[in-house]
Amino acid sequence: KYQGPKYEDVVQTRRENLSKGNFPYYKENVMIHQGHKQWLWDTNGKRYLDLFAGIVTVSVGHCHPKVNAALEEQIKKLWHTTTIYHYPGIHEYTHKLLKKFPSKFGVVLYTNSGSEANDLAMYISRLYTGKFDIISLRNGYHGMSPYTMGITNLSTWKYNVPTGFGIHPTMNPDIFKGPWGGKQCRDSPIQALRDCSCEPGECQAGDNYSNQVQDILLYCAPKGGKVAAMIVESIQGVGGAVQYPKNFLKNSAKMVQSAGGLVISDEVQTGFGRTGSNYWGFENHEILPDIVTMAKGIGNGFPMAAVVTTKEIADVLGQAAYFNTFGGNPMACAVGSAVLDVIDEEKLQENCQVVGTYFLNELAKLRDEFEIIGDVRGKGLMIGLELVEDKKSKKPLNLDRVLNIFETSKNMGILVGRGGLYGNVFRIKPPMCITKEDVDFGVYVLREAIHKESKN
Ligand code: PMP
Repeated sequence: KYQGPKYEDVVQTRRENLSKGNFPYYKENVMIHQGHKQWLWDTNGKRYLDLFAGIVTVSVGHCHPKVNAALEEQIKKLWHTTTIYHYPGIHEYTHKLLKKFPSKFGVVLYTNSGSEANDLAMYISRLYTGKFDIISLRNGYHGMSPYTMGITNLSTWKYNVPTGFGIHPTMNPDIFKGPWGGKQCRDSPIQALRDCSCEPGECQAGDNYSNQVQDILLYCAPKGGKVAAMIVESIQGVGGAVQYPKNFLKNSAKMVQSAGGLVISDEVQTGFGRTGSNYWGFENHEILPDIVTMAKGIGNGFPMAAVVTTKEIADVLGQAAYFNTFGGNPMACAVGSAVLDVIDEEKLQENCQVVGTYFLNELAKLRDEFEIIGDVRGKGLMIGLELVEDKKSKKPLNLDRVLNIFETSKNMGILVGRGGLYGNVFRIKPPMCITKEDVDFGVYVLREAIHKESKN
């Protein structure tokens, strides 16, 4: 039974002693006390199905016994030492993680957060190429450090502080709201509703959007299209589960790489099997990036992150220092190693594929029932549901109505995320161990919540 500080006291601390940047998620916010696998309990003992996993972080389930045990075992022996000494954990974990990658990747660089991992990826791509400019996508999110604020292109996260020298945001290849794309363009088990603007049988949306990348190389980059890198999520997370049309990434990666730039795949949300069909999101796009960054799900909630790249690229750090006190510490390696084991042992990637596809199909039925569900999209357990005024205009649903549905869903026992520039996309990215029964419950709650709002 919960015996800690009272709800009102916590609210007051938050209001007076914590950052105003910590925005409460619900009108009547939840106060979480305990978790187990896909479930969370608040301080009153009420149970929630967690469909947001602490922002896509809890990959194998809250307080997973095997991960807990690995951490307990480690803290009995050694909490911390830095990479200035040798220790066995980092050795074992590095090899285990690299086994999940195509053979060209041979080096892991450890950090503590996704922002730091992307900072480091930008740094080494600039050092390696000797170039400075970087392409990122509008509507992409890559972090909140000064470097990554520049490559994050959502105005919700932009302020009047200097960021982003040499960053070129390319057009968001959003087939739902953008000018190109439609039914057949997306790599998803379910189709978009809108008719395709492409010729039957072939998709030109990918070409059209990637031509925008070519234009950046032509017009904005220093002469000869010299960029250090292009950074991209394989499905946008914070931006609202936006999926690109087929070939967009394949074409764009080719353009950047043939101009001598590197491709950085930000797998902070899409990695570790979440998209179901592949372990890494970039594999769904048939590209071979030069650098891969990861965080969140890598540690199932333990603060750790990593950059994986080739030996040749990583060797630039031989001439330029990089040091990180906590990166790859013994606790992180023990946790990360157990997470990799659990994903394999419990076949969680397959579960993402099977349960995720079921989820998408059930949500597509909801989409066909309600005028205010404009789009359902995603892959595996990386799902978005976009709420609109009506399917034709696609205007974001009035925020009060979005929040009503959001609040009712919480009151009825499910926690989802919100994203997209207007906060009108429900983000469904649960721990990867959820079941079809959980999906049925989640969809039931969403149907009731939307129904209730539609009646008001
Ligand atoms: N990249 C992506 C795709 C993310 O979603 C996030 C966090 N939402 C980050 C990077 C930054 O990670 P962190 O908050 O750990 O710095």
